[in-house]
Amino acid sequence: MNNRNTTHFGFQEVAEDEKSQRVADVFDSVAQRYDLMNDVMSGGLHRLWKAFTIAKSGVRPGWRVLDVAGGTGDLALAFARKLGQDGQVWLTDINRSMLTRGRDRLGDEGFIVPVAQCDAEKLPFPDDYFDCVTVAFGLRNMTHKELALVEMRRVLRPGGRLLVLEFSQVWKPLAPAYDFYSFKIIPRIGQLITHDEASYRYLAESIRVHPDQDGLRLLMEQAGFERVEYDNLALGVVALHQGFKF
Ligand code: SAM
Repeated sequence: MNNRNTTHFGFQEVAEDEKSQRVADVFDSVAQRYDLMNDVMSGGLHRLWKAFTIAKSGVRPGWRVLDVAGGTGDLALAFARKLGQDGQVWLTDINRSMLTRGRDRLGDEGFIVPVAQCDAEKLPFPDDYFDCVTVAFGLRNMTHKELALVEMRRVLRPGGRLLVLEFSQVWKPLAPAYDFYSFKIIPRIGQLITHDEASYRYLAESIRVHPDQDGLRLLMEQAGFERVEYDNLALGVVALHQGFKF
């Protein structure tokens, strides 16, 4: 039976069950050139944002870490390097094309990590299992963000932390230039590199309909996270939120 509830897919209002298919189409389409696009679009800045996320995680050898919506594996790779033999990082994503690329990349770097294709809204892990959960540029694409956050909290051990790296609301004076760049330039770069302008228009639109810094803090608190705080990166282009499960 069709699901009649609606949600955002960028600026469009679509049926909830249609959104997940359209998000899947986006990432199937861009998976092969996803990493190159990230470097070009952000001028390499996404590497610094991810390095900051790793630093903020406080990860220690021996920890169990879950990377949700991990895609091509940037965070999982960085965690694998830090965790040593006793620790474990799981690379997970709903999309097979992205996950396959991530698994292969980690393998090429000499890291064989457990990989699971799964929906963040229904994680196949026991309660209280991970020391740290991360989600980078993934939450925005999820149909029921609140359910995904509750799931991420469920699999965290008491005292464990969630880190959410996501596009956010840019510093107001910068907004016109940022709008120009994201609506006029990025789709063109997307067309040149991935031959898919529409997916990169979706990227720009999906950022505008995602909760801002305080909106996401509230969502995390409603999901049960405590001591929720965020750091703005690149003047709010991106924010890193963290929250704890106690
Ligand atoms: N985390 C990686 C990074 O920072 O480069 C990949 C981010 S990519 C922009 C977003 C990822 O979210 C895609 O790989 C997509 O398949 C994944 N995704 C979207 N909805 C999801 C869901 N409901 N559950 C798990 N992953 C999801």
